[in-house]
Amino acid sequence: METVRRQIIDLLRQEAMTALDLSRAVRTSEKEVYRHLTHIQKTVAGQGRKLSVTPCTCLACGFTFTDRRRLTKPGRCPRCRESRIGHPVFRIKE
Ligand SMILES: [Zn+2]
Repeated sequence: METVRRQIIDLLRQEAMTALDLSRAVRTSEKEVYRHLTHIQKTVAGQGRKLSVTPCTCLACGFTFTDRRRLTKPGRCPRCRESRIGHPVFRIKE
């Protein structure tokens, strides 16, 4: 558990990645990655770093989910009701 979290932190310090990229890199499910990211968000905050999240965007109408607090991808766009939503991109900033 700890090792996976450390791997994710190391990866995100080097480059911006989606949960899908991370799930492939550390060989776990996307669902697990999101669980780890929730913890990582707190861990890195205590270290003076920040988990930055590029907000999801609706691929159909361009709506951006700027107010979203959860890290996971929303199921549907509130503006056009489409479910083609771009994945959030994560990165750890020093
Ligand atoms: Zn939309």
